[in-house]
Parts: sequence; structure tokens; C-alpha cells
Amino acid sequence: EAFIGNIEAANAALNAYVAVTAEKARELAKASDAKLAKGEGGALEGIPLGVKDLFATEGVHTQACSHILDGFKPSYESTVTANLWEDGAVMLGKLNMDEFAMGSSNETSYYGNVINPWRKKGSNEALVPGGSSGGSASAVAANLCMGATATDTGGSIRQPAALTGTVGIKPTYGRCSRWGTVAFASSLDQAGPIAHTVRDSAILLKSMASVDPKDTTSVDIEVPDYEAAIGKSVKGLKIGIPAEYRVDGMSGEIDALWQKGIDWLKDAGAEIVDIAMPHTKYALPAYYIVAPAEASSNLARYDGVRYGLRVPGKDIVEMYENTRAEGFGDEVKRRILIGTYVLSAGYYDAYYLKAQKVRTLIKRDFDLAWQNGVDAILTPATPSAAFAIGDKEMHSDPVKMYMQDIFTVTVNMAGLPGISVPAGLDSDGLPLGLQLIGKPFDESTLFQMGQVIE
Ligand code: GLN
Repeated sequence: EAFIGNIEAANAALNAYVAVTAEKARELAKASDAKLAKGEGGALEGIPLGVKDLFATEGVHTQACSHILDGFKPSYESTVTANLWEDGAVMLGKLNMDEFAMGSSNETSYYGNVINPWRKKGSNEALVPGGSSGGSASAVAANLCMGATATDTGGSIRQPAALTGTVGIKPTYGRCSRWGTVAFASSLDQAGPIAHTVRDSAILLKSMASVDPKDTTSVDIEVPDYEAAIGKSVKGLKIGIPAEYRVDGMSGEIDALWQKGIDWLKDAGAEIVDIAMPHTKYALPAYYIVAPAEASSNLARYDGVRYGLRVPGKDIVEMYENTRAEGFGDEVKRRILIGTYVLSAGYYDAYYLKAQKVRTLIKRDFDLAWQNGVDAILTPATPSAAFAIGDKEMHSDPVKMYMQDIFTVTVNMAGLPGISVPAGLDSDGLPLGLQLIGKPFDESTLFQMGQVIE
């Protein structure tokens, strides 16, 4: 009731939820109460969560915040959300996001911007919550749910978490099943939680993760008790600091925060070492070839026949054209154009194939660090704090917005786990995050180190 009350009081201002399932939540909560009274119930019994609109939820609004999925209510549940409900969690509703998870500010949603509950000191200007999981981040930050599901293809869990003072972890590729999650770039997409604390994230990820025969890229490897990592000393662990992440134009405040993070971990007994990641600078351009290429292929299914919106035409070809012209927003169309171009005969080798080779080199940079005994890597999470909605500079060129992902895309390209942990406030009083990057399937170490920073 407290969370439903918060949604009723604040959602009109924040626009974090695009669908609220209050009645169903009340029913489920009652059933949870009954179980708990008998000393029964799962690990998340009665815990109220929000769900990003990218996850298929049976019979409930699932539109990836796109017009093209107009009215779509799936007849099945995503594996990740099914796992959460199996453990007793209760859904409060579906959360706003950038259309098809393409964006870094939640400004591409068909349902309009999400507002960040944070404000600059002495100002009432509305700020973005980051994206694409902006609804998830804003809802958690404003206490409109206890935690939320999110997804991360190039930074969409970690960047909004950083911009809202929440914790976000993208697990290793293969840790969570992608089944029932609307596909953006299938080789990069991973689900993960956004939550208030590192401990909450550990508990939620444990429940979300599983091997799943319906996703052949999910991995059959034990999901550890992540919560056991909380409170464990980081003494003797080796943390790599890659100088290549000190990018041009990075603010002094971000640099200072990074140094603080290094000091906190050093004080807690970790060993700090400099490492080289020479291919870092190619990650963003390579990502913006690979991700649109896969997206252009994945989005081919929205043809006006199978799902959602259909805009009639004089024949079937015109119906496709009208549906896609009206159904997709500008950023999605940009990705389809780029993706189709880089995959087309004659350009494939020059762009797509080359980007895939760069991807291997990026992964090798990380492999070398692990071979040298590094346990995790510490970097800033974002190059800036939350910015204004409609910020002129950000919207002057799409690449400016893409720069928001500069520190996060390497992790998706290499399939590694990465966590963003709130690390302090900037001089305007806005939250900033630090990112820890871990070895494959070693999310535990990220939780262990993350709680030193939070
Ligand atoms: N901002 C990035 C993009 O627009 C990442 C999005 C994501 O992780 N889903 O592609």
C-alpha cells in the first residue's frame, strides 16, 4: 500500500510507470501475507518490484515503449520475471524506457520523458534519469518500488543507476535468460536489477539469474549466493585502473571521484595496479556498428502483421511501409538505417566484420588483465551527472548522446559483468557513480567491492 500510495502521489510528475497493476499487486500481496504468516514463502515473498517495459509480462502492457507494439499484451511471461514471481515478488507495474532500449536519457520513449527525482542545488530544472532503463532508475530512486528489473545493451542499467544514485548491475552475458525480453542487440543484451543498495541488487540478481533451455546463450553454471559476498573483506584483492578511461573532456569532478574510489578500496586493503586497455577508444564506434546491425535484424519482425500497430495501405508492401513509418520513432529509424547499411553487401567487411574484430581485441585487453591476476577494474560509470531534459548540447548531434556510454560499452562488447555504485555527489549536489568490471561469472566480487564504495 505504501508503494502504491507513492506511485499515486508521484508518478504523474515522474512518468516512471507506463502501466500500474495495483489491484493485482494487492491480491498477490495478500497471498504473500498468508504465506509469510505460516512461515512459508520464497526469498522475495511480498517484495514489490517494477518491471521495465522490455520484459514480456503475461496479459500486461509490454510495448518496449514503442508505438509499433501498440496494445501488445503477451500470452507468456519472460523467464527473468517468472523467476522473480516464483520467489514471491509482486509486480507493481511496467516501467518507462527509451524506445526499444535505444537511448541514454529516456527521451526516445513513445510515452514521453521520465523525470529524475534529483535536482541541482537551488534549481528546479527537470533532469533526465539516464537511459534506457530511466523508468526503472527513477522509480527506485523515488521509492515507487523496492527494486526494478532493467536491461543493459551498452550501459542502460549502469548509466541510469549512476544518474539517480541507485545501484545497477549488468551481469555476465548468459547469466540471465533473454527469453521473453524484447530483443535489441542479441549478442549484447542482458537483464539485471536496479536497486537501492548493493545487498538488494545481490538478492535480486540471485533470483533473476538462471540457465534456460529457451535461451541457448544462457549458461549452465551455478548461481552463487551473492548475498554472502556482502560484508566480506576486499583485503588482498587486486584492482586494475586503466588510464585509457581518463578520456578527453572528462570533468575534474569525475576524475576526483575516481581517485576517491581508489583510496577507499586501498584503505579497505585492496591492492591497486595500473593496467593497459589499449583498444578502449575503439569500443564506442564498434558498439554503434554492432548494436544497430543486430537491431536492424531484430526489428524486421515488426511488420504490422504479427504484433501491435497496423497502418493500412493499398497493398501489403504499403502496409509494411506505413506501419513502420508511423510505428518507429526517429532514434529507432536511425539505428535501422545504420544497421542495414553496415550489413549490406559491399559494406559488411568494411564495417560489421571490422567491428567484430575490434570486439575481439577489446575482449583480449580484459583477458590480459585477468591473466595478470587482476580481480576487478575500477572506472567512472558516466562522463557526466544528470543533464537537463532537451539539453541543446546533447541533442545537437546523436554522437554527443552516444558518448554517455563511453565507459560502459566495453563491458557489453566483452560480455563481462559490470556494476555501477553511487559514490558521492558533484558540486551541484547530483549523484555520480563508479563502475566495477569483473571477470566472467564473477559478479560476487563486484558485490564484495561495491559495498566498500556505496
Ligand atoms: N545508450 C546505448 C544505446 O542507445 C545503450 C542502450 C542500452 O544499453 N540498452 O544503444
